[in-house]
Amino acid sequence: MKQIIQIIEDDPSVKKLLEITFKEYGFEYVSCENKKTAMMTFLGYNPALLIVDLGLPDGDGKEFIHQIREISKIPIIVLSARHDEKEIIAALDVGADDYITKPFSVNELLARIRATLRRNINEESLCDKVVCNDLELDILTRDIYFKKEKLKLTPIEYELLKYFLLHPNKTLTHKQILKEVWGTGYQNEMQYLRTYINTLRKKIEDNSTRPNYIKTESGIGYRFSCTKNQGF
Ligand code: CA
Repeated sequence: MKQIIQIIEDDPSVKKLLEITFKEYGFEYVSCENKKTAMMTFLGYNPALLIVDLGLPDGDGKEFIHQIREISKIPIIVLSARHDEKEIIAALDVGADDYITKPFSVNELLARIRATLRRNINEESLCDKVVCNDLELDILTRDIYFKKEKLKLTPIEYELLKYFLLHPNKTLTHKQILKEVWGTGYQNEMQYLRTYINTLRKKIEDNSTRPNYIKTESGIGYRFSCTKNQGF
């Protein structure tokens, strides 16, 4: 069965560009212009991925994402003209998987779509081994290897690195990471996160001031970079 991408975009020129692009690259798609029809379409078509604009005629795209997240884990990419860091953080915190600002490059968008779809397959396959470049996670034994050597990690370091390994190439906000690794109630403990990022970087980065794995997304959070990754 072919995967359908659902577009929620009210700007006719952007919508047209997306449709032409998807047609050219062989993606099936369905387009909607507001929240209301988007929800009906979502329920009717069972799409594989959502591209969501934030400024919609009948409300904010974030509200739509919030509604979707109550019922589905479908990958969501926000495509918006809003460049403000706070908006980006809010969209990611409400459950978007990625965020692209307009004007956007078609190649960048396609790359993000592929990465998001691939990641979703990895997450669903319940693998017990995850590989990312020189890192290897064994979920069953709770060991993480770096260049074939077992890393000595504290429990929090393990949980943090595991969370990164399971969410590669995805912008993760400070709040998201704190909530997932430390738990509810820790969302604002930014200093905890910074401290652990530093100790982790010392263990897995060749040069911790110029990290290859844990990239800082200034003002937003972190992105764990994997050029080669797979789950088994
Ligand atoms: Ca709009």
